[in-house]
Formats: sequence, structure tokens, C-alpha cells
Amino acid sequence: MELQYRSTRGTGEPLTASRAILQGLAQDGGLFVPDRIPVLEKTMRAFAAMSYQETAYEVMKLFLTDYTEEELRSCIRSAYDSRFDTEVIAPLVKKAGAYYLELFHGPTIAFKDMALSILPYLMVTAAKKNHLQKEIVILTATSGDTGKAALAGFADVPGTRILVFYPKNGVSPIQELQMVTQKGNNTAVIGILGNFDDAQTGVKEMFGDAELARQLDAAGYQFSSANSINIGRLVPQIVYYVYAYAQLLAKGEIQDGERIHVVVPTGNFGNILAAFYAKNMGVPIDRLICASNENKVLYDFFATGCYDKNRPFVLTTSPSMDILVSSNLERLIYRIAGEDAAQNAELMRELRTDGKYTISGNMKEKLAEFYGNYATEEETAAQIRKQYESDGYVLDPHTAVASAVYEKYAAETNDSQKAVIVSTASPYKFTGSVMRAIDASYDGQDPFVLAEELSRISGVKIPDAIGEIRCANVLHHTVCEKDQMKETVCRILNLPETSM
Ligand SMILES: *Cc1c(COP(=O)(O)O)cnc(C)c1O
Repeated sequence: MELQYRSTRGTGEPLTASRAILQGLAQDGGLFVPDRIPVLEKTMRAFAAMSYQETAYEVMKLFLTDYTEEELRSCIRSAYDSRFDTEVIAPLVKKAGAYYLELFHGPTIAFKDMALSILPYLMVTAAKKNHLQKEIVILTATSGDTGKAALAGFADVPGTRILVFYPKNGVSPIQELQMVTQKGNNTAVIGILGNFDDAQTGVKEMFGDAELARQLDAAGYQFSSANSINIGRLVPQIVYYVYAYAQLLAKGEIQDGERIHVVVPTGNFGNILAAFYAKNMGVPIDRLICASNENKVLYDFFATGCYDKNRPFVLTTSPSMDILVSSNLERLIYRIAGEDAAQNAELMRELRTDGKYTISGNMKEKLAEFYGNYATEEETAAQIRKQYESDGYVLDPHTAVASAVYEKYAAETNDSQKAVIVSTASPYKFTGSVMRAIDASYDGQDPFVLAEELSRISGVKIPDAIGEIRCANVLHHTVCEKDQMKETVCRILNLPETSM
């Protein structure tokens, strides 16, 4: 049966998967959600014998029902290939008494590669299937990792352009260099004098701008999104939860059917939402442990039922989680509201006007499977040091937040169920904060010198992604004010300047 996608805010016709991927965000500002969550057709035992690519096919075919088998298999084959530095794509390692699911073995060494290496193929296939004549303009806001992963995926892909906005002073030096050295005639990278929320808000406004849409249309363009608001980002992320469980089973670490916790370092709520979908598809997941840094808006939300972004934005050592408006939470709100789009739309209106909303007691009861907590900057650094000292294993700061939160959970609950900690980035992306956490005397050193030092102390080879940018030329210099994003887009696309 074909799955349809509708907006969490309820207006407009339902769309096929390929059209939802092409469009990115619904016209009413809502996010596309499937009209039901499909159930896995294979047992976990069967998954335990499958490769990552086979698992991806079995999971994704249930959501992308209008793609043919040949189309989907071809997308998967093109995405999960030797660009990953390990054949298993997403290794599950047991270190310092915990299981870490390493999602950073792709070309840009962060978990965003898991979805962004396939999204361009899904999108180009969707354009073909729907006979789209226009050029697709991927408009992306990044908190640090999506930008590079999307640039790497879309660079020189015919029929696409990609524009990335990042917070000029809110990403790590390596993250910034990865983006501003990006090659490709269809790429543009723009620093904004604002934070990630400003970038994401600006992008969402352009999606909803009817005047801009008309101009784009006249010029032969159509916007789409590479952010996790695009359902084409979310679906590939479900795969590795199925795969992680199957790996535990294959290795004899768990019994068939044994429930496990997953611990996810969270920003925009995309990764943990994928875990929630995996659970609803039948993966025996128990608690969904949502780990935040000092921007702990989600921790407060799970504790009180009130989502309140009115607070200072903190720049932390885990910049990809420096987010106060977690876009994908809207998909969960819609679901716990009983798929009541009007109720969800009202809450999102309150968020826009007052910066906060409170869910009903009935809705809050449905969040019992989530557990939220956070780690301070000191706790995060201490966790990096502790894991390194106990096992020689070096965590990146995002993963360290998750690891610290998991220890808080275990201490509070005394619960001995197994847990998978999702490891979202390579420590090589954050050499400054990682090495400083291990030894304060590294403070202030050059990020590339620190990469060599990190390799020496951890015994892990420096990834190609670091070597590549070390001597690369900076190709992108544009910086703009946060209220100049639209002008900047018009200039890059050669659209007539409009009244802003
Ligand atoms: C994007 C990112 C996160 C947050 O993921 P969400 O899906 O936005 O919650 C965590 N860690 C790293 C390294 C990231 O790049």
C-alpha cells in the first residue's frame, strides 16, 4: 500500500514520498509526516545477517513506497560505498563498558553523512520520476555538520545548486574550514552574524515567502531542503537503529527481543526522532534518552511539558547541539496530539509569537518513554578525559554529552538494561576542545597540530577529511547580517532584488 505524506499543520493535499522529498517543507510551514509508521517485515534475527545496505533497503522501501526497487537499490549502492572508511558503514564498538554506535565514518566525519550521502540520489531520482524541469536549489541552515555533509553530497550534482548558511562565530575551526574550502560550481557558503536559530528561521521564512517562490519559479528554480525537516533526511537515519540492534544480536550481546535503551546527543531532534520511528516499527527499544548540552530546552520540556526558547543562547564545545528551536520536535508533538494538525498548528503559532508553548497533561503522559537530561561544559570535558583514561577511547564533545547523560540516567535509575550511545562525530572535528579536555596544556594550539597529537595518543589514523582541508584554498568568503539572508540568496541566484 502506498504511503502518503501530509503536513503536521494539516492543510494541503497529501503527497507521495518523492514529492515530499522534492518539496522539503510543506507550504503551510509544517513538516511532512507519513500517514502511518510502517512495521518491519523481517525479524531482528533476519536483520542480524544483513549488510548495512540490505538493511537500508528493507527499512527505506517501507517509507519510500513510490520508488521502484531498482531506483532505491541504486540510490543505496551509490551512497554507502567506499566513501565510508569501513565496510560495515556504522560500526558498533564496546568501549569503557558501553556500546557506541559510530556514525562518523563517512566523508565528512559526522553522522550527517548517514543521510546526506543518500539524499542527493533520492532527490535527483525524485526529480526524474516527477518530470521536474526546474533546477533544485537546496537551501540549508547548519549548526556545523549538516553544511559540509550536504555540500559534499550535492557538489556538482547536475540539476542542483546548494546554498549553506552557518553561524559565523558558532562552529569549530575545522567545521568552518571544511565548508569554506568546498569545491563545486553549484555551491555557495555564507557565514551569518547570528546563531543557528537565526539561520534556521531565515531559511524557513524563505520557504514560506510566496513572492520569492514566484520569482524562483520565473527563473526556473525550486527550493528544497537538506535539513532534517526533509523527510528524505529522516528515513535513512532510521536504518542504523535497526542495524545497531541487529549487530548486538549477531554478536550475542543481547537475547532476541531484549529491550535496549538508546542515548542520543540531540539538537534539532532529528536523530532521536528516527530512533522513535525505529521503535514504532518494531525495534525493541525501551527508553529514548535525549541528551542536551547547556542549551537544555529539551530537558526542561520533558521535565515540565513547557517548551520555552526564551533564554540565553549558549555557545558550547558541542556546537552542533547549540539549538533552542528543535524543528523535528514538531513531528513528535503532532503525534502525541493524536495526529491533530490543528492542535499542533496552534502550539507552533504560540512558539512563533511567544517563544513557548505548554502541552496538555494527556500529551505529556505519552512522553513517558523519553528521558531527558543534560551535561554542563565541565561534565562534558570530564567525560572525555574519563573515557580516554579508562580505555584510550576518545569521544567527540557531542558524544561525550550523551555518555555523561547516560551515566546520570544509570545512577538515577539503577537500571542495568543495555544501552547504545550514539556517537555522532569524530573527535578530529573538534581537536581543540577534545585535547584541552584531556590535558589543559594543549590549550590554544593549532587545530592541525592537535590532530597529529590526537592520532599519537589514541592510535587512530587522521581521517582523510582532515588531511584534505589542511592546505586547501578558502573559496567562500561571503558573510552577511542575519536579516540579509534573502538579499544574499537573490544575489547569488541572480534574481531581481525585491522589497525586503
Ligand atoms: C547534528 C548533530 C547533532 C544533533 O542531531 P539532531 O538530529 O539535530 O538532534 C549531534 N551531534 C552532532 C555531531 C551533529 O552533527
